[in-house]
Amino acid sequence: MARRTKIIASVGPACSDAATMTALIEAGVDVWRLSLAHGTLDEQVETFRRLRAISEESGRHIGILVDLPGPKVRCKPFPEGGCEIAQDAVLSLGIDGDASTADRIVVDYEGLLTDVGPGDQLSFGDGNVVLAVEDRASNALKARVLHGGHLEGRPGLHVDSSKLRMSTPTPNDLKLADTFIDLGTDMVALSFVRSAHDMRRLGVEPHPRGPLLVAKIETNAAVENLDGIIEASSAVMVARGDLGAECDIEELPHLQKRIIEACVAHGRPAITATQMLESLLHSPVPTRAEASDIANAVFDGTSAVMLSGETAIGHDPVNAVRTMARITERADERFDYEAWWNRLLSVRRKDDSAADYMRVTDGITQAASRLATELGAQAIICLSRSGFTARSMARFRPSMPLLGLTPEPRTAMQLSLSWGTRPLVFGERLTPAESALEAVHAAARSGMVRSGDMVVVVSGSSPESHATDNLRAMRVP
Ligand code: PEP
Repeated sequence: MARRTKIIASVGPACSDAATMTALIEAGVDVWRLSLAHGTLDEQVETFRRLRAISEESGRHIGILVDLPGPKVRCKPFPEGGCEIAQDAVLSLGIDGDASTADRIVVDYEGLLTDVGPGDQLSFGDGNVVLAVEDRASNALKARVLHGGHLEGRPGLHVDSSKLRMSTPTPNDLKLADTFIDLGTDMVALSFVRSAHDMRRLGVEPHPRGPLLVAKIETNAAVENLDGIIEASSAVMVARGDLGAECDIEELPHLQKRIIEACVAHGRPAITATQMLESLLHSPVPTRAEASDIANAVFDGTSAVMLSGETAIGHDPVNAVRTMARITERADERFDYEAWWNRLLSVRRKDDSAADYMRVTDGITQAASRLATELGAQAIICLSRSGFTARSMARFRPSMPLLGLTPEPRTAMQLSLSWGTRPLVFGERLTPAESALEAVHAAARSGMVRSGDMVVVVSGSSPESHATDNLRAMRVP
């Protein structure tokens, strides 16, 4: 069985040249993540354009997700090679200066000296180093190192979001979002979301004209307001780095399950992110725990798994993607598709007051999934203008290949995030019967199905109704 869980690779210095990007695509990247927290705007724009050009050459639909930094506090750079922060050392934390050292860490957050005080714990670089603040003077905090470690580059500092006075999206986020939407980004992720209102403040056009909006769940407030945030978003990321600093670490696995289950219930793709193959930053093989973590995220129902530093700054990004592809492919093979069906029916939100087109699409995709299983079909073909039908279909986790055919190139890019969905652009005809047949021919021409295969096709009878109200079973001519 071909891999169904999608792989997102973060782009950084370790993979920003054309040859490595091409090798990463061959290794299995489905979506690029461009974190806008690093580098200058000119560099980010150039990387975006290079990603587009190289992805186009590959002939595959590989979407780009730009990740807005939000109110993320970062250290001023440590010297080349980084610094060892010794356990139990006492150091100072301030806001004046352009560089950090092992004795004095400088951060880019004006409010540090007012929002943080004695008794607070501060976590750097996804928990690599933890400090306890002991004293506050007019120009610096004095802090003891509770957990020592290595810091390099410009690591993030996690300040408890309930203390942080900056809100998301920041004015800088809004400017960055405009720039990358103009460049045609497929997806935009918002960091440190606390409510559905934060998502709405981005003020983007609905997809596919606008980007898919991804809410990063990394604050306690976001966990409390989860349902509203998911409703206001097109997909969700379990951002375990900051979420793990915000909650007690023993709660993190349970929050991951809860967030993914809520996404499944709402029919939104979930992305599981951070430290999935952290040991590959330096080593050629993952830990046993990392392999199990990835497989368990697949069994939880994640649609995609994300690599962060492993591809952005790791010593062998291609090996990281290959390793991720092997582990997810095997987990996809062992996935309990039958049990998923019952689980989905028990958690799925059925909203009787929802618009007709949503209820009809929900019912037809459920029926299509069942029909394809009954017939032992070789593929399900979804005709989808906005991607809504293909996403609705994907959440049923059909065991056979799922093809998302769309006349909109933008939708095809956005479907790169959807579990198990192979996007394909095709020219559509006027009547649903012609469109369905043309879609089957297009799938055959691309080699996704073969003559004689039994396929189930779902499509809509008219653009006006928006609903996916046609279900057909047929052999590929
Ligand atoms: C995270 O915190 O897990 C995350 C994905 O966000 P970032 O990498 O932007 O810190």
